[in-house]
Amino acid sequence: MTDNLKGRTAVVTGASSGIGAATATLLAARGARVALLARREERLTGLVREIEQAGGEAIAVAADVAGSASVAAAAERVLGAFGGVDLVVNNAGIMLPAPAEQADLADWESQIDVNVTGALRVVHALTPSLLKAAATGPADLINISSIAAHVPFPSFAAYTASKAAVTHLSTTLRAELGGRGVRVTAVEPGIVATELQGHVTDPAVNEWLDGVIGSIRVLSAQDVAEVIAFTAAQPAHVNLSRITVYPTRQA
Ligand code: NDP
Repeated sequence: MTDNLKGRTAVVTGASSGIGAATATLLAARGARVALLARREERLTGLVREIEQAGGEAIAVAADVAGSASVAAAAERVLGAFGGVDLVVNNAGIMLPAPAEQADLADWESQIDVNVTGALRVVHALTPSLLKAAATGPADLINISSIAAHVPFPSFAAYTASKAAVTHLSTTLRAELGGRGVRVTAVEPGIVATELQGHVTDPAVNEWLDGVIGSIRVLSAQDVAEVIAFTAAQPAHVNLSRITVYPTRQA
């Protein structure tokens, strides 16, 4: 096991399960101090305990990325505890697919609000700290997008739109911040076995998802966490700007 992230200070949103939980645990194992953000505080405190028992350093910060005040307060708490951050993993997200003529409009709105505006709220709150960190060392903004940014999936209109926005805002932020030393990355996974699929209520979509997950070996949250940790561990002058990671057998 390497400690190639020693001295880094990280924020991981959506750290209470799936990719975020695996990423927070891995970054801490590689030496970073990690702030865990999500709504389910008891999950976060449980994970902080596990990280500490393994010799790592982490704090739990309950936050709802759908609220500007909540994100601002969380950022203040993290900056107060760590003094600054140099690695932000913008991972919190929801996926609520349904056929367009049946979809609940509130679900479409919340996917945009959490996946896109939520990510932007975090960028807004923490970019000043990333820019400060970039003056003396590596600084990373790693946004978790999806292959859905490019691939059309029927019934996923709002979700695919949200992920296309995440990839594109990453491209634009890289053009804006790269010259000042902040690396920006969009990580675009294919299907990963997490709790994300558990929130899907549409029977036809569930049948399709179960079929894919049951027929091939999909990615694990740990697989994606390794990609994120690898990205952050590059020398400061190396920016992996967009990384697509598929399960080998996913078409
Ligand atoms: P999970 O459902 O396991 O994790 C989602 C995380 O987001 C949870 O920690 C959840 O925490 C958090 N979250 C959701 N809403 C909010 C909110 N309003 N405020 C703060 N945190 C929130 O799914 P994944 O790990 O799969 O998803 C992580 C990211 O990866 C998402 O952006 C997803 O779109 C993306 N992705 C996932 C793929 C997959 O196949 N699983 C494929 C490609 C991309 P809590 O409920 O405690 O707030």
